Amino acid sequence: MLNPADWSTDQIIQTYHQHVQTTYGRTPLAFVRGEGAYLWDSDGKKYLDWVSGGRAGSALGHCHPDVVAALKQQLDTLMYVSNDFYHPWGARLGQLLSERSGGRKSFFCNSGAEASETAIKLARKWGHGRRGESCSEILTFERSFHGRTYGALSATAQTKFQKGFEPVVPGFTYLPWGDLDALAGAMGPQTCAVFIEPVQGESGTFPATPEFMQGIQRLCDERDVLFMVDEVQTGFGRTGRFWAYEHYGVDPHVVTIAKALGGGATLGACLAKPDYCALVPGDHGCTFGGNPLATAAAGAAVEALDQHGYVENAAAQGEYLLGRFREWARRWPAIKEARGLGLMLAIEFQGAEGKAALANCLERGLVIHGVGDSILRILPPIILSQVEADEGLAILQGAIADAL
Ligand code: PLP
Repeated sequence: MLNPADWSTDQIIQTYHQHVQTTYGRTPLAFVRGEGAYLWDSDGKKYLDWVSGGRAGSALGHCHPDVVAALKQQLDTLMYVSNDFYHPWGARLGQLLSERSGGRKSFFCNSGAEASETAIKLARKWGHGRRGESCSEILTFERSFHGRTYGALSATAQTKFQKGFEPVVPGFTYLPWGDLDALAGAMGPQTCAVFIEPVQGESGTFPATPEFMQGIQRLCDERDVLFMVDEVQTGFGRTGRFWAYEHYGVDPHVVTIAKALGGGATLGACLAKPDYCALVPGDHGCTFGGNPLATAAAGAAVEALDQHGYVENAAAQGEYLLGRFREWARRWPAIKEARGLGLMLAIEFQGAEGKAALANCLERGLVIHGVGDSILRILPPIILSQVEADEGLAILQGAIADAL
């Protein structure tokens, strides 16, 4: 059998260009192996992975032994049955997530965008039941990102993602971030939900303030509107709590999660408080959502979080890294701000210095993300050890120093 893992870097990249649509601006690197916080490319070069496989997709690092063991066992047992049937791994994962979310019930899907779609459909179904069909408006916030499918794209208040695909789905209103007066003014009987990322991730790591999140909760409660939190990126311990909303002392009706949930396998979920589970049989569905393979992996991943103390580790390492980034910000005027929550971090420069720093990092074996030319996004796996934290800090510091 042909083994593409033996292909050269050029062969991999050329084959992509010839046979795969060019919908991504990919970095010219091909990864062929991962273990813990490290990746190896097709030329054998080792990298410290400070993006969790990219876009925070694999918070437990690569090939976590507990997840691998669960997957191997599941591969020999049952990979797939549809949602026409029950299976124990979906039942168990639902239970694990309920225990960690005050009894919320899950709908399983495959991705973050699908989790957003589910939340949007749930909100409208709930709104119609509450105040009739005109109760369908969803309020989201400038700079937000909720995914690329049409509902999720329409919730995403960034025209750059919508351009070329109009008309987007009607019924979404975009509000300024952090502005409770604007929110209070916009909310009316037509509003069924407010949808927010507690830390805006894709746009450059902007944590909400407690006043903002608590104000949204208060207004939603007063006006009988669903408070929906997009934890696709922030969930699963990334910010130093299982859910980022726990930092804020709020209790949303609906929460979404994806990315890290599957421990590297593909899974998303939309969780709702039992009284707000407005979707009934026939309303929504998904062929592969919550399949045995993905839910077995996720069950092992959730249990690994507790057994190994990874959530606490994310909090401690996040504080350590942010402390160092803030020291650099005081030392180097070119750094405008260092910010973040847990292991969801960013360094923003005054100008385009981020671009050169990013290139220097890759050259020196540290993978991080850039947002535009001025923001570096840092999303290490939450298993990050002290040695790996210090190794990354040394590379990053040198990469920034040489970029200034
Ligand atoms: N919501 C948030 C907050 C995200 O960060 C993302 C992806 O970056 C999504 C939704 C979409 O997730 P996916 O790419 O799995 O569809």
